[in-house]
Amino acid sequence: MEWLTIPSVSTLPEHNDDVRRAAVWIQNKLTATGFHQTSIIETAGHPLVYAEWMVDATQPTLLIYGHYDVQPTDPLGLWQSPPFEPEIREGNIYARGASDDKGQIMLVIAALQAWIAVTGKPPVNIKILLEGEEEAGGEAIADYVSHNKEVLVADAVLICDTHMPSASQPSLIAGLRGILYTELHITGAKTDLHSGSYGGVAPNPIHALCLIISQIKTEDGTIHIPELQAALPTPLETEKSFWKEDPLNIEKALCEEMGVTDLVGENDYPALERIGLRPTFEVHGIAGGFTGEGAKTVIPAKATAKISLRLPPNYNTNEVFSWLKKRVEQLSPQGYKVELKNIHAGDGLIVDQDNHFFREAACALETAYNKPPVFLKEGGSIPIAALFDKHLRTPVVLMGFALPDDNIHAPNEKFNLQQFFMGMKTVADYLGRLRK
Ligand SMILES: [Zn+2]
Repeated sequence: MEWLTIPSVSTLPEHNDDVRRAAVWIQNKLTATGFHQTSIIETAGHPLVYAEWMVDATQPTLLIYGHYDVQPTDPLGLWQSPPFEPEIREGNIYARGASDDKGQIMLVIAALQAWIAVTGKPPVNIKILLEGEEEAGGEAIADYVSHNKEVLVADAVLICDTHMPSASQPSLIAGLRGILYTELHITGAKTDLHSGSYGGVAPNPIHALCLIISQIKTEDGTIHIPELQAALPTPLETEKSFWKEDPLNIEKALCEEMGVTDLVGENDYPALERIGLRPTFEVHGIAGGFTGEGAKTVIPAKATAKISLRLPPNYNTNEVFSWLKKRVEQLSPQGYKVELKNIHAGDGLIVDQDNHFFREAACALETAYNKPPVFLKEGGSIPIAALFDKHLRTPVVLMGFALPDDNIHAPNEKFNLQQFFMGMKTVADYLGRLRK
């Protein structure tokens, strides 16, 4: 709860000092836990926190990853209790970062503390790497991992930053989508114009923006980028039948979580496939023109949209950017200056399930929850997982304990305390299983 009071919002420069405070807080916690070797690693952006405890050279080494930064809190008015004043209500702890990802880091540390309390040390060699820019592109850690492979050498990576379908159904992540985040800038006249004097002849960038966007993704949810469509992967047969049967009734759960009556998008594909494997094209914000109260008949000179694509794991994000750019250029109406910027990108990942570390994770979950885990392709992106896979060439285990209604990235983020304790128990068991 103390850690949750620190507003480590990585995307807002006014919180830079808070982000650092959150890094120092967790470094101190790791030292107090018994890690002799801890450090704050300076980067071009927010610092990384590193800790290491090598107990025995004959034992495997587990690298644990997490992020101590959090999403912004707006709209603030929708929070029932202030985002950085954690409060426990009905078995949940409410605060920004409670679930994503401070709470999940703490359950891993609690599992380590349990081992240390009983045996004096962790059961296997532990390396911990925590970043402060996960919600802001994660450039510092990408750079660090690619240049410090020898420091991070490990037999497997454990990431607790994902969710389970429900409190009674554990899961392991089998794949993650990649992400490409862009900005579309459109300019018309050299200055804002009056619609009485110029309406009918003046270019309107907001209109051009809407035209381009609506032609790339049409009403049926199809994304009209030919190269993207040509490279779409075919799902596994087991996945196809799981998605089609939908034994967890996820379509209904999704409607309830979102508070909507119908799902939108590519109706020919099951919801789980649309979330796990199909590409997306989402507009996150549009800026331009007059949005104040009352009427002002301005024809804006400029308009901007923030647009991201979630991508199946087999795509190269730079290539996708060039396809999108080409498409935007083709669709740009006469009389406008159109520019597409690549803001950030991260690769997806297909998780290797055929290894000791993944199998033991499944056993630990089954033991704790009394039910075998389902293997899910997750719609979200954790680019660092792909980076670890690429640079360290070790198995990556994504075992998360958040729940679908944790409101991560939204008002009233919470973490279920029962899940905290179950997670702690599962991870403690998992660490023991890795010991030779
Ligand atoms: Zn996260």
